Amino acid sequence: MLQRNLLFLILAPVGLLAAKRPNIIFIFSDDHAANAVSAYGSRLQDVAPTPNIDRIGREGIRFDNCFVTNALCGPCRAVIQTGKHSHLNGFLENHHVFNGDQQTFPKLLQKSGYQTAVIGKWHLGSDPQGFDHWNVLPGQGTYYKPEFRTPEGKEPGKVGSYVTDVVTEKSIDWLNTGRNKDKPFMLMVQHKAPHRFWLPPIKYLKEYSEKIYPEPDNMLDDYQGRRSAAHMQDMTLRLSMDLAVDNKMVPYRMDHMTPGQQKTWLEHFVKIRKKLLKAKPRGDELVRWKYQRYMADYLACIRAMDDSIGRLLDHMTETGLDKNTVVIYSSDQGFFLGEHGWFDKRFMYEESMRTPLLARWPGVIKPGSVSMEMVSNLDFAQTFLDIAGIGIPNDMQGLSLKPILEGRSPKNWRDAVYYHYYCYPEYHAVRRHDGVRTERYKLIHYYDLQEWELFDLKKDPHEMRSLHFSDGHKKVMDKLKEQLASLRKQYQVTEAPPLRTGKTLFPPLKEFGTFLIEN
Ligand code: CA
Repeated sequence: MLQRNLLFLILAPVGLLAAKRPNIIFIFSDDHAANAVSAYGSRLQDVAPTPNIDRIGREGIRFDNCFVTNALCGPCRAVIQTGKHSHLNGFLENHHVFNGDQQTFPKLLQKSGYQTAVIGKWHLGSDPQGFDHWNVLPGQGTYYKPEFRTPEGKEPGKVGSYVTDVVTEKSIDWLNTGRNKDKPFMLMVQHKAPHRFWLPPIKYLKEYSEKIYPEPDNMLDDYQGRRSAAHMQDMTLRLSMDLAVDNKMVPYRMDHMTPGQQKTWLEHFVKIRKKLLKAKPRGDELVRWKYQRYMADYLACIRAMDDSIGRLLDHMTETGLDKNTVVIYSSDQGFFLGEHGWFDKRFMYEESMRTPLLARWPGVIKPGSVSMEMVSNLDFAQTFLDIAGIGIPNDMQGLSLKPILEGRSPKNWRDAVYYHYYCYPEYHAVRRHDGVRTERYKLIHYYDLQEWELFDLKKDPHEMRSLHFSDGHKKVMDKLKEQLASLRKQYQVTEAPPLRTGKTLFPPLKEFGTFLIEN
């Protein structure tokens, strides 16, 4: 019997054996806060549910403590490609260009016989490497009639198309006709949504503008109890969110729409603008109005994405692809949805540092699992390699999540994560900082300001009062400082580059400030 099996192994076509290795579909979005995924049970779960993303967790696992190492679009993507912190992969800020010549997980998958593809937002400056197929948005891409880039050059946008649908359609096309079906594959489906400026599809404009969105308790935060970085940022709904562009009171960014789409868009926003000019909200009332507008557009973009994820999952079921494919959903980082009165990300505070992570792997992950382990986007590369049964290079810095997916409780799992944000001076004026988060505490070091913040997440989950001054917390603070030093050593953290002088690299858009309620 043994001999016969051996003979089979020798004689079996390579493709037959390789096909047994699981496929991986990594669905990835941009700026999708865990608070806007209904599986996480936030205040928005009833008004804006995400049934298809939730389904991945229900049929698989939901990670409740997934953190990023540097809450900014490009850096998060570079961390995922390399399994290394920003200071080692070289991509610290969004204007950097990713050195694609370095070791990345897609190259290792490819070398071991996997077919690799990336479709949608790439945002790393250089061309993708290590992919058999790539079809990506140039830079940020556009919501309407999106152009794409391929190794052959530019691909013009399709009239009337919407980016989220196109990314999913291209992904399904590649699954159907673009790949060699004898080989296992890794497909990265990378959505633009729900990135600023949150342009929803026409079909959800009205429905999502008529809903009322519950506010976070700390939306009118005055930043007392925090150090100076929280006071000096430029990302408030009150002052930084722009009525013309963000809230769409001036009809910008319609050039990619069809005349029909433009007409509906204009009618919709003219009505809202009329009401605004009649009500003339001021002060806190204007903050509340902006929050409702912001949520209407942001969550409508997510609705379209959730629909399209449902289409992809259904397609997998119909074709039987679901059986031997791991599906993972995550976002490049979290986002503030009015918490602390903010939008955007960047800070090491919970809403931006935490990112959604859900995974389904039939026959391996027990449906309905929840993991509270502290995991990170630093772990993704190693997890992909481990799922594919490939050896993990020693210089990757994360941990494979495969044991957790298999329902094992790994011993000596990490008890702290390291964070480092580098991008200042820049849009939103968030000062550079690094820090450590443990299960209970968070210590943040704004090193250019020589300021520390300490939060007790158990007693103060919304990070409203730093305890850095508290004599009663001196011991905790000392221990966290030690932990931070040890993580810096473990991850070979190098000194941050010299602080840039001058203003932001990118000047504010000329359209900002072109609508005032007084006019
Ligand atoms: Ca992002």
